[in-house]
Amino acid sequence: MSNRPTGFKFLGKNYEIEYVAHVDCDSSPELENCYLFGVTNEAGKKIQVRDDLDKNEEVDTTVHEIFHAIDLTVDLELTERQIRVLATSFISILETTPELREYLYANTQLQS
Ligand SMILES: [Zn+2]
Repeated sequence: MSNRPTGFKFLGKNYEIEYVAHVDCDSSPELENCYLFGVTNEAGKKIQVRDDLDKNEEVDTTVHEIFHAIDLTVDLELTERQIRVLATSFISILETTPELREYLYANTQLQS
């Protein structure tokens, strides 16, 4: 995918997203959060996602790891299952609700 995000900003902090052949699970002190296809290093503000996933897996993993970053940044203490369900559900709702995508695009700063 050529339109992969390279990072995002959350609560004034810049996170980097990189797509790699092998995720570096040891780089994350929160080893229980080392997802098979991706990993979030909250201290280093970096997300790694495997670069050999199919499109759906890659999108799901990217959103999954972003939710981990949110969770770790604000100490929500979400479980792995909660992260998985939230990320997959969020993507599914966006995929099946074009009006919602258009609404968000028109009424947020998504256009910039
Ligand atoms: Zn996870």
